[in-house]
Amino acid sequence: MNKPHFTIKNNFQKGGILYQDLLTPEILSDICLKVTNRPDYTYDFDNTGYNIGRLVVLEYQNKKHYVSISETDIRSRNSSFQSLPSALSRYILDKNPNKEISFYFYPSITGNYETPYFIFMYRLMKTAKIRFLNETKYLSHPVVHFTTAADIIASKEQLRTKNRGNRSTYITRGPNNELQIYGKTYGANKYETTILCLALSEIADSKVQLFQIGDGGLTELPQTAKDAIESLGVVKIYTSNKKIEKIDFEENDSLRSIEYVYNLLEKLGGKKCAFCGCEIPQIIHGAHIWPVTDIKKDKTLSKDKKLAFALDGENGLWLCQNHHKLLDVNILRISENGKVKYSSEINGLNAIFLKYITKQTQLQGTILSSRFIYYLRKRNNILKESLYCEIT
Ligand SMILES: [Zn+2]
Repeated sequence: MNKPHFTIKNNFQKGGILYQDLLTPEILSDICLKVTNRPDYTYDFDNTGYNIGRLVVLEYQNKKHYVSISETDIRSRNSSFQSLPSALSRYILDKNPNKEISFYFYPSITGNYETPYFIFMYRLMKTAKIRFLNETKYLSHPVVHFTTAADIIASKEQLRTKNRGNRSTYITRGPNNELQIYGKTYGANKYETTILCLALSEIADSKVQLFQIGDGGLTELPQTAKDAIESLGVVKIYTSNKKIEKIDFEENDSLRSIEYVYNLLEKLGGKKCAFCGCEIPQIIHGAHIWPVTDIKKDKTLSKDKKLAFALDGENGLWLCQNHHKLLDVNILRISENGKVKYSSEINGLNAIFLKYITKQTQLQGTILSSRFIYYLRKRNNILKESLYCEIT
């Protein structure tokens, strides 16, 4: 019987050392043993092109094993997961049905590779069906895959609470229960976005929409990543695009803008009604403070300026469907000090109901930025404060 055979692209993209320097015979033998249960192998270092995905291919008994090797020196979260998505995408696009993908911690790995963020990423990797070859030796706890999308959303939210600076991709649900990923397509976040989509493809119980959030020129994920995500048939990819946003803004009074929702997520975090605390994402809207219809009517503004005001995350709040409507018809009003008041025309049982459902009568100070107040003044222009009562 033929021995397991390694095929390894030898060159690093950045040049310098070769994979044959990094992957000693002991390491290859260890990988081989863990993958095939036998330590002996043949190998082939391929000197054409360069290695994408820190990838080692091991073939044995007609099965093709992709093995992605961890970084050797973990300095930051940003650089540590850049190879894995490339390896995973290539694996997914490989038409060979008899295949498997694994992740291998490099034996002399240094640095902190067990932070909450790393553990979150490992869990996504396992959810995306990546086998860990030597986790017990390097991690203090075994990696547990996610079983539901709700699991992933909760873990992501927890990470964000721990580290306010970690604002990158957001997962939430839309009005029709669809899972929505707002994912950055540039910098290190594109790796997280890719792994997230591939993991969700394995466990999602509903349609998944990926909204690509670009930065200037780069507005889409790398082609291989997109191809891999689309090939699994679960995630539909959309691009936030200024032209489309502009058409939508000009033709519709309610703006269903990817960029607006993303800007609100960036400012406010996950969907949560500012007036009652409701966190059921399917019924939470982005509510404009200075309404889109009024922005459009302002003759002093250029079209571009109007669009910028309509998309500004400072020009909005998360509100549940009830509170969105109550604000829109001016039954509720926000004072400049952040107090939420109700119209004096409301009385009796309706006033009691309003008081009952409006638990947060004072907006948090962090929301009341100078731009928010600017929009609030525009809105309140025609609404006399004296006609509103405090909710007590
Ligand atoms: Zn509410």
